[in-house]
Amino acid sequence: MKMAGKFLFFGTGSSLGVPVIGCECAVCRSESPFNKRLRSSGLIKIHDKQIVIDCGPDFRTQMLHHHIKQIDGLILTHAHYDHTGGFDELRILNARSKQPIPCLLAEATAEELKMRFPYAFEQTSSPEKLTTRSVLHYLKSERGKVNFLGLPIHYVTYQQGGMLVNGFKVGNFAYISDIRHYPQTIFEDLQGVETLVVSCLRQQSSPLHFNVQEAIDFAYKVGADQAWFTHIAHELEHDFTNSKLPPNYQLAYDGLEIDFEIPLNSSI
Ligand SMILES: [Zn+2]
Ligand SMILES: [Zn+2]
Repeated sequence: MKMAGKFLFFGTGSSLGVPVIGCECAVCRSESPFNKRLRSSGLIKIHDKQIVIDCGPDFRTQMLHHHIKQIDGLILTHAHYDHTGGFDELRILNARSKQPIPCLLAEATAEELKMRFPYAFEQTSSPEKLTTRSVLHYLKSERGKVNFLGLPIHYVTYQQGGMLVNGFKVGNFAYISDIRHYPQTIFEDLQGVETLVVSCLRQQSSPLHFNVQEAIDFAYKVGADQAWFTHIAHELEHDFTNSKLPPNYQLAYDGLEIDFEIPLNSSI
């Protein structure tokens, strides 16, 4: 028996988004909706649960665009602005539900989040005060399994320019963003992943992100049947890039929804 899940790409853009402010390149001037990329984020839908992975500065736009009224939880990969800049927008969800939002993240990410949004973590005697409230669920180690909102979630840790980043696996699906250097144990942890979302910045190499070839090589080593690339910069034109890529390893686009499965015996 399996439980069906869906992942909706809220955004597939790199930290600047596409188009880039003030850029006159062909991709930034393109009219194609596939070349318009909000900051990387996504929505996991399983049964009656909706969980957002990363809430960057486009979070409000993404929630409005997809008519999402409420979420059950938030997972943060790391604290960089393009992944947490919309944290304050959770306020309205708190106000409506009168509940804090469960948030799964590393303790180091939480420390950084508290520096970026100190007021969201202040103790207040007034429950009516309109502020973001979340219950932080810390990842206990560098790699492992956790039960979050009743779902078995595996997590891994890698580094991006000195900042710790987490990747997550649910059933046969994994979301691995902002990756360049990683421990080899990641391939053990990602065993069984058939559908992989992995960040892929551009053709040229970067000290912080996989380029196209590195993303292909990584997906191949994971053994993913299907890989979707995200966190894409303006150097990559959608149709042209995909025509050169293997048919099962392709650039994702904002609004794409993909399916995955969780075996019901995947106990934790
Ligand atoms: Zn990023
Ligand atoms: Zn551009």
